[in-house]
Amino acid sequence: MSTLRITDVNKVYQSDGKHVHALSHFNLELRPHEFVAIIGPSGCGKSTLLKIVAGLDSQYEGEVAIDDRKISKPGIDRGFIFQEHRLMPWLTVEKNIAADLSLRDPKVRKKVDDAIALVKLQGFEKAFPKQLSGGMAQRVAIARALIRDPKVLLLDEPFGALDAFTRNHMQEALLDIWRTNRTTMLLVTHDIDEAIFLADRIIVMKARPGEIKEIIPIELSHPRTRVSSSFLEYRKQVLQALNEFDHAEQSYSI
Ligand code: ADP
Repeated sequence: MSTLRITDVNKVYQSDGKHVHALSHFNLELRPHEFVAIIGPSGCGKSTLLKIVAGLDSQYEGEVAIDDRKISKPGIDRGFIFQEHRLMPWLTVEKNIAADLSLRDPKVRKKVDDAIALVKLQGFEKAFPKQLSGGMAQRVAIARALIRDPKVLLLDEPFGALDAFTRNHMQEALLDIWRTNRTTMLLVTHDIDEAIFLADRIIVMKARPGEIKEIIPIELSHPRTRVSSSFLEYRKQVLQALNEFDHAEQSYSI
């Protein structure tokens, strides 16, 4: 059984009498606990795909299923992490994580405390978002998504707005969270090293129409060393799959 199954998804936008073929015959299955990264040029349909999987867009052909159940709208079986943390500035860390659940319920209290421990923010329960660094705020967003035990966490360039040092640190934090929590992850990124550092498989996409160009399994044990020769080999392989070896270094972070 797959946790997430995307079957023959086809998406065409119509605007100003023009058709944009955003996704063409897209097929992908994520095994339980798998970490899959999607990388590809701007306009290859990455955001469209995440929106469809999140249930935010139902105007497409094909089928998306979680644990073999077809999805048609957003649900708590899918968590979503955006590039911005989207925390409520007037709520404390713990209240942001609990969201509409009551912290007076001992079960919720325990879940929130466990989530705060998972993202290593003990001591910051009563802090407000403006008192946190960008990386800490993004960890709160991850805790908020995980508290509902989603089957799949969808991450849309979650660390794209962070500086390089914080980004590396957050990749390590996400790896720890994933190894502890084992949630299935679908990550969209522009960062080739991030994809190689984290993913079991990298899906390289191409644009017009948006489709899978190559699937690269990353057969390295964790934690991965970014400067090892095998890591650098994978970097070369991803760049070649992007088929822009000369230009890719300018448009992708490596
Ligand atoms: P990516 O996230 O990989 O940059 P998108 O999924 O945003 O790609 O877009 C895929 C293609 O669909 C692009 O050509 C984009 O211009 C087009 N597109 C996205 N959203 C819309 C929309 N609402 N209306 C028309 N075209 C769209």
